[in-house]
Amino acid sequence: ASTKDILAAAIRSIPDYPKPGIIFRDITTLLGDAAAFRLAVDELVKPYEGMGVDKIAGMEARGFILGGAMAHQLSAGFVPIRKKGKLPYRTVSMAYALEYGTDEMEIHVDAVKPGEKVILCDDLIATGGTAVGAVKLLRQIGAEVVSACFVIDLPDLGGRKNLEALGVEVRTLAE
Ligand code: 5GP
Repeated sequence: ASTKDILAAAIRSIPDYPKPGIIFRDITTLLGDAAAFRLAVDELVKPYEGMGVDKIAGMEARGFILGGAMAHQLSAGFVPIRKKGKLPYRTVSMAYALEYGTDEMEIHVDAVKPGEKVILCDDLIATGGTAVGAVKLLRQIGAEVVSACFVIDLPDLGGRKNLEALGVEVRTLAE
């Protein structure tokens, strides 16, 4: 089977979560499957090996799990982008549109040094609202956002185009 098929088979679909009519793609089953988790992380890091990536920025919360593993494998640092009120030091914040509402995300002002090469990581891209907000935050503190990567793309929701419109390369493993 192809990588895409193996990963897709490891993801569980939950109908009507978090509200009626939404099918939630649950990656906890992928994370709990040792072979699938390794495959996902290996495939996520592959295009970035040898590029001199300084940091992986992960979105709370599932982006922490995948992004932390990526950072270790690339010998890069890890930067958490968190929901409002969770980071202890000085932050910059950004309101963003979610698939199911709006929220605010934050990053520490000194999380990235100007010009550092950063890759954004999350489990899934839908409308791209979360990732677009994250790219803006990272750029605001001086990061060079090289690329953004996700295990799952929901292509009908247009997230890839929204990120590409900001000049960010998008890489995804399954649809
Ligand atoms: P977007 O901002 O692209 O519309 O939504 C993506 C964000 O919402 C990501 O942070 C992602 O973790 C979360 N998300 C939205 N829908 C799903 C889903 O079906 N499954 C998972 N695992 N995350 C989702």
